[in-house]
Amino acid sequence: MEEIEKTFSKEQAIVEAKRCLYCYDAPCQAACPANVPIPEFIQSIRTDNLKGAQEIIREANPLIEICGRVCPEESFCQSACTRAKVDTPIRIRELHRYITDNTNPSENLELKPATKEKVAIIGGGPAGLACAVELRRQGYKPVIFEKKQLGGIPVNEISKIRLPENISQKEVKFIHHNFIYQTKDIKITSLKELNEDFKAVFIATGLPDELNLNIPNTTLKGVYQAREILKKAKVGIKPQIFKRAGVIGGGNVALEVASVLKREYPNSDVEVIYRRSEKELKAFKKEIEEAIDSGVTFQFLAIPKEIKGKERVEGVVVTRAHLGEKDASGRRHPEPIPHSDFFIPLDLIVIAIGQKASNFFPEIEKDERGLIKVNDDMSTNVKGVFAGGDIVKGPSTIVESVAQGKKAAESIVKYMEGEKNV
Ligand code: SF4
Repeated sequence: MEEIEKTFSKEQAIVEAKRCLYCYDAPCQAACPANVPIPEFIQSIRTDNLKGAQEIIREANPLIEICGRVCPEESFCQSACTRAKVDTPIRIRELHRYITDNTNPSENLELKPATKEKVAIIGGGPAGLACAVELRRQGYKPVIFEKKQLGGIPVNEISKIRLPENISQKEVKFIHHNFIYQTKDIKITSLKELNEDFKAVFIATGLPDELNLNIPNTTLKGVYQAREILKKAKVGIKPQIFKRAGVIGGGNVALEVASVLKREYPNSDVEVIYRRSEKELKAFKKEIEEAIDSGVTFQFLAIPKEIKGKERVEGVVVTRAHLGEKDASGRRHPEPIPHSDFFIPLDLIVIAIGQKASNFFPEIEKDERGLIKVNDDMSTNVKGVFAGGDIVKGPSTIVESVAQGKKAAESIVKYMEGEKNV
């Protein structure tokens, strides 16, 4: 499967960079969770100093290649761009991507020697990697505990049509080589499993488990969980052949799975089945547009009631819904309409209704959703233990996880320095 988006040419990038107003208060930068100095890197494109531009971004966001392709710019930098008041916002992420596509990271990084203590980082996804980079820059020795391939969702799940493997793997290899003191292929689920070597710990496990529908027959053949499909697609394993697939959910993962299925089997039908209306879809605009462009259709206001089939799935019975009052999510709640059930014939169903926290780390205080509670400095209720990323915020973006990893690293450094002075 080919990557959907094409990179800017040099001419396009310079024309776009010249549209920037170089706002003195840089609202784009303020809207970026990683606080990337956007006007500075745009200025460097204008003077064709791409190496300098790359270093400016990398300093603020170590996942520069990954975010250059998959950061949801419409929710962050571009949403705040002053140029929108004149005509259209600067295409910031595409300029960012242009830089990464035309440069390589510096081979001779000048880092402080790693003379300080080891810090345990549990989880090698975006938050864990960002924390490791910041700690190593300060002379600490980050040790990452990760059972799977380093990189988390961008490396293991985001589809090749948006993020080719060579791009994400190149990025992770660079971080691994330069910033990580040690990796341990161990799944840590309790602080007791760590030895006395670590005075500080950062928990960034993400949300490893998927939510399932509480309806009959979710275990029939032909019913899959979304991440299973995405993980396989990432390593080149095609989903089973189908005539008509239904993807249940309305978030980014649901839309991404639908696009992957449709692009793998363009002559088959793929329908997203969502219990609210189009307006309440949680997926980013770009994900929705990509799904529509690839030929995915939508069945809105449909609440799954029962999956039908004998051994194999044959379809799903859904109840038509109307929207009631706003619920805890801030969106209008779908209410079933009596006697409105109908059957959608399907030979493949993918459940994509979200992720949940695993029941790890009994020592750590959590909220009712199982997410770790942290203070403003990302510290938990256990001294020396910090947490960040999806396990704290719930499902969030890569750049938000990077921001949390950086913030946690800053707090860990303060904590470690403070301990020495006790
Ligand atoms: Fe340029 Fe837009 Fe940022 Fe202003 S807000 S500096 S116009 S990118």
